[in-house]
Amino acid sequence: MSEAHFDLVVIGAGPGGYVGAIRAAQLGMQVACIEKEPALGGTCLRVGCIPSKALLESSELYHRAQGDLGRHGIVVPSAGLDLAAMMKRKDDIVRQLTAGVAGLFKKNKVTRFSGTGTLQGRRDGLTLVRCSAADGSVTHMVAKHVLLATGSEPSSLPGVELDGDRVGTSTEALAFSAVPGHLVVVGAGVIGVELGSVWLRLGAKVTVLEYLDRILPGTDAEIAAAAQRVFKKQGMAFELGVKVTGARKDGDGAVVTFDKGGVEQTLRADRVLVAVGRKPYTAALGLDSVGLTTDKRGRIETDAHFATAVPGIFAIGDVIAGPMLAHKAEEEAVACVERLATGWGHVDYDSIPGIVYTDPEVATVGKSEEDLKAAGTPYRKGSFPFMANGRAKALGQTDGMVKILADAQTDKVLGCAIFGPRAGDLIAEVAVAMAFGASSEDIARACHAHPTLAEVVKEAALAVDGRAIHI
Ligand code: FAD
Ligand code: NAD
Repeated sequence: MSEAHFDLVVIGAGPGGYVGAIRAAQLGMQVACIEKEPALGGTCLRVGCIPSKALLESSELYHRAQGDLGRHGIVVPSAGLDLAAMMKRKDDIVRQLTAGVAGLFKKNKVTRFSGTGTLQGRRDGLTLVRCSAADGSVTHMVAKHVLLATGSEPSSLPGVELDGDRVGTSTEALAFSAVPGHLVVVGAGVIGVELGSVWLRLGAKVTVLEYLDRILPGTDAEIAAAAQRVFKKQGMAFELGVKVTGARKDGDGAVVTFDKGGVEQTLRADRVLVAVGRKPYTAALGLDSVGLTTDKRGRIETDAHFATAVPGIFAIGDVIAGPMLAHKAEEEAVACVERLATGWGHVDYDSIPGIVYTDPEVATVGKSEEDLKAAGTPYRKGSFPFMANGRAKALGQTDGMVKILADAQTDKVLGCAIFGPRAGDLIAEVAVAMAFGASSEDIARACHAHPTLAEVVKEAALAVDGRAIHI
């Protein structure tokens, strides 16, 4: 039996795995990356970040063409929808980007293996890995280091019968062949409001059922409440504080049952999107062959440097603890392999932004007000509305605000939450400022170009000290 030897074998080619493989190769390691799907790029490129953002962009343009452009004095007699063309554009973007990763592998001399990667035990301090391809062929590898980057898959609920058609997950909701008359979304988290927005804009009636009494759990409560008011105005219906107990296909539609205050209720839908979170994916990984287990939530346990309990085996991204975000997986991958090569590598978890790509967007970084209250940290808060910003007026997008939280004694920025136009781009400034340990005064004293949305960030920083100018 022949064996291929590598410094690093990466299992999984999502944003964690492929970025880790490329960075390790740049650092001079002999690297292999095993991916079970035909296309590289993982959940993010294939069925996550990228296709969802493509549809969010297209559906927003359609929605604007349907009415909003009239406010600008642009008369569009009647905007029609070619859903197949919209889906094709999304698929083309996915194809280009996943092919781009294959190109990057070639450029960086990462050896790609197509098939399922499985740990096969240890020998002489090295890890044995097998790749089983779809055509039945098997490759055996011996690795000095292994990086587990197998990501996550959608969670479901007891009583929910996912049929991949009428009752499905985000993967199905990224590819509906027709606009559903009524889409019921289970879960008002990130996927629920993003994909709910897509289909709402394309003409569906959208009802979101959420277990908690708020949307977007984990997001600053004031910002999430402001977002909910705007989404409601846009036509999204919310049933909060309800527990979904079942969902199943029924004829050419579906039926959803939920508990509201102890009373069971039923909703009919054309389609159901189940978006109640994601769980780590470790099927067929062979963890037991090396003596690794997972925690109660199915996550591979690591130390602060991504090392598992087995020397030479590391894990990053959605399959370990922490927020399930593509850029978090990338940061961890780079820190992990840089540490292997150089002895150094670090992720600043306090400055990882999270963005919800609705219209307007929701973006956060660092602590929320609830976090600071719970920790008993004294803070000062500055907020500023987009309504008072010239550029927001010009864009016709004045909903929302920027909120900056700073340490009451030192003025160091501890967190920021933005609900408003291009919030996802605006938060980058605050994330960089936080990575440098900036104070709100630092942001406030920096010159921000006029007229830009970034001036709202500056004004919120000024407001921390009670000296915003334009309000
Ligand atoms: P994944 O991207 O899940 O990649 C893991 C890869 O490993 C997969 O390709 C899988 O096929 C492969 N694999 C698994 N087991 C094996 C095996 N045994 N052998 C070989 N290959 C294997 N995050 C953001 O930051 N921004 C967003 O806008 C965003 N939007 C999202 C929208 C949706 C609809 C969804 C579902 C997710 C979104 N996410 C977003 C989350 C983001 O996709 C994940 O956090 C990210 O992909 C995690 O990266 P990863 O590399 O850890 O895992
Ligand atoms: P989520 O954790 O964001 O939201 C799940 C929601 O479902 C929660 O609000 C939860 O209270 C609710 N829920 C759970 N059980 C329920 C029940 N029985 N009845 C009604 N509601 C119930 O999860 P998600 O939206 O599925 O997203 C999964 C992951 O993907 C997230 O961790 C997110 O980070 C990632 N993601 C990120 C982005 C982005 O960064 N823009 C976009 C999409 C997904």
